[in-house]
Amino acid sequence: MTEQLAPMPADWQRALAVVAHPDDLEYGAAAAVAAWTDGGREVAYVLATRGEAGIATMEPAQAAAVREREQRASAAVVGVSAVEFLDHRDGVIEYGPALRRDVAAAIRRHRPELVVTLNHHDTFGHTAWNTPDHRAVGRAVLDAAADAGNRWIFSELAEQGLAPWEGVRWVAVAGSPRPTHAVDAGPGMERAVESLLAHRAYIGALTETDPEDYVRGFLTSMTDSAAEHFGNRPAVAFELFPR
Ligand SMILES: [Zn+2]
Repeated sequence: MTEQLAPMPADWQRALAVVAHPDDLEYGAAAAVAAWTDGGREVAYVLATRGEAGIATMEPAQAAAVREREQRASAAVVGVSAVEFLDHRDGVIEYGPALRRDVAAAIRRHRPELVVTLNHHDTFGHTAWNTPDHRAVGRAVLDAAADAGNRWIFSELAEQGLAPWEGVRWVAVAGSPRPTHAVDAGPGMERAVESLLAHRAYIGALTETDPEDYVRGFLTSMTDSAAEHFGNRPAVAFELFPR
């Protein structure tokens, strides 16, 4: 990646972020979300699972409740109050019509111009294998951006009062190995740190490192590596799919 990243489009009012797990948006995208809500834009979160399989030392039923609470707290830090869960099963999310329908329904409920998701490619970077949940949800989100506008796909949604929404103009994929656009991470960085730190139980089980050192180190190295391609400004990079 040597070319420069373009600034993300700014002429929109509503965004919907749809990802697999609690914490997926906090590993980077939250710095952009903070900047967007600062600018008066509305952002809502939809999580396919409650991340119940994410903590080795905690039973799923307990982890689901803990991680839902942590996700709501971390969203609030960056100005997001709408947080919904689709209750697919963590670790074994299936790509297919049921997932596409649930995401299309969320898009019809929220009527966003910008949809955000996490890396749907096979790898993070070029060699780290991605998880099946991220691949399934990312691909379903890219597909559902179109499904949401087609009255004949999932026509049962209209019967539930969810009219087709053709207004999605872009899908932005965070964590992609092929980024095209970026958002200045500076204004939202401290809140991004705080929002990832809100996943205390998860991070506590993940690393022996001091949580704040771990979180700050991860986010700084990520936004610094994007800076090389964004005029030396630390940035959150996205792969943007216009529609
Ligand atoms: Zn995840």
